[in-house]
Amino acid sequence: MSKYHCNCGGLILPNFEAYQVGDEVNFMIQKRKSIGNGNISVSQTAHSGKITKIDGDDITVKAQVRTYELSRYEITPKDAPGPIEYFRIGRCRCELDDNHQGAA
Ligand SMILES: [Zn+2]
Repeated sequence: MSKYHCNCGGLILPNFEAYQVGDEVNFMIQKRKSIGNGNISVSQTAHSGKITKIDGDDITVKAQVRTYELSRYEITPKDAPGPIEYFRIGRCRCELDDNHQGAA
């Protein structure tokens, strides 16, 4: 089990304050595409890249093709589960519940 997997089955959030220039991170990009008749198709794809600049909570990440301006809380470290997994599996809630047994 990685340090991001908790006993409760949830995923532990990465330390968002610990990012540094040069870190490799994962992030999601949402694309909107018109599919006619006024309908919009929204899809999310996972990307990865390297932090090139940190300005407060704005983090610039250089991916293979493009460079993205992202919020600190939209990215996860490369060794952490991707944003899709946090969304799918759910976050650890132990910290929110003091009496529950925490991470071993
Ligand atoms: Zn937990």
